[in-house]
Amino acid sequence: MRRLVILGSTGSIGEQALELVAAADDLELVAISAERRWERLIAQAQQHGVRRVAIADEQSAQLARAAWDGEVLSGPEALAELIVAAEPDLVLNAIVGSAGLAATVITLSEGIDLALANKESLVVGGELVIELAAATGARLLPVDSEHSALYQLIASENGQPPGTIERLTLTASGGPFRGRRREDLEAVTVEEALDHPTWQMGGKISIDSATLMNKGLELIEAHQLFGVAYNDLEVVVHPQSIVHAMISLADGSSLAHLGYPDMKVPIAYALHWPQRTKLELAPLDLEQLGSLNFEAVDNEAFPCLSLALAAGREGGTAPCVLNAANEVAVAAFLDRRCAFLQIAEVIEATLSDAEIMQSYSFETLIDADRAARATAAEHLVTLA
Ligand code: NDP
Ligand code: MG
Repeated sequence: MRRLVILGSTGSIGEQALELVAAADDLELVAISAERRWERLIAQAQQHGVRRVAIADEQSAQLARAAWDGEVLSGPEALAELIVAAEPDLVLNAIVGSAGLAATVITLSEGIDLALANKESLVVGGELVIELAAATGARLLPVDSEHSALYQLIASENGQPPGTIERLTLTASGGPFRGRRREDLEAVTVEEALDHPTWQMGGKISIDSATLMNKGLELIEAHQLFGVAYNDLEVVVHPQSIVHAMISLADGSSLAHLGYPDMKVPIAYALHWPQRTKLELAPLDLEQLGSLNFEAVDNEAFPCLSLALAAGREGGTAPCVLNAANEVAVAAFLDRRCAFLQIAEVIEATLSDAEIMQSYSFETLIDADRAARATAAEHLVTLA
């Protein structure tokens, strides 16, 4: 039995992971966590026979304690206590935002394998996270679909001489606004932005997909995970989301990973690694698909991808600043406090104000994140 902790179990990834756990006979769920949706969390604990949970929001934790006789951890050390006490073999980090970095650090510091959906951990603290995993021997298994695909493709070339893999390609669906020009995006609504054509996801990543910031974060994630230079990473728009990623090899071959867009596939791969598991999904039907389309990114309409790439290339604390400004701007857009195109404006203004540091520690990152949030909030007020 593999002992599993799911952090962010009440979210989109968390809920899908719980369905997989219920169907698996080799996974034992030992602890779960959420930010504030305590009723859903307790219902999950009861359904899955879990006796220990963590809740980030103190008031929600108190309500949960009053309603449930299991152990409810809260406070700044709650996730560390939860992870240590649960003695898991694997932690799934499905928290959204840079709030997930601490959980990544705790898990890897303990030498525990990590299934990582929280891409922001790698964007904000990539070098440190990768160094930590190497130092403790903990395995980092990507859950993001493109990165899960790349992980599998790269593994298939194990044992080949260095330089065999020349290029990694990530596909982007293009989001709900694919094909629109910049001026067509001025008045788009939150509902339109949340209406993703191929994936059902949480609110923040859905907006990131609409701005293409999601693909920008994923470029940084791929750079960190696979140690590949930005010049050897590319993004192509592929509206059907059937090809998740591709690697191009020295002998002229390219290998691609295909499947219907369903996050259960990469989640299950990470939870069961190195075994593959049977999922009741329809096999890919190429005849029925007929054709697959690919096109270039429109960088003028979707400037977030270039902003992320520039921050990734700059390195140091730049991706941390980019991510913090994006989180603040996306929250404001979801709250109807800014327009869609202002998301990129806030990020760009915050990056140009920030003092980027090239060498950093986790403490530096926390400070850079906090400062960037404050600057981004000021820019939001100025733009309003
Ligand atoms: P959701 O918003 O659906 O869920 C987020 C989860 O994190 C919830 O359980 C939430 O708790 C919890 N949470 C939020 N803030 C905090 C905090 N400050 N401290 C502790 N827990 C917190 O997000 P998704 O499931 O969509 O995404 C999760 C991560 O996976 C993101 O990093 C995303 O980029 C990545 N990802 C998601 C994909 C998807 O298909 N959804 C695809 C690829 C990657 P509560 O319910 O109480 O608010
Ligand atoms: Mg992805």
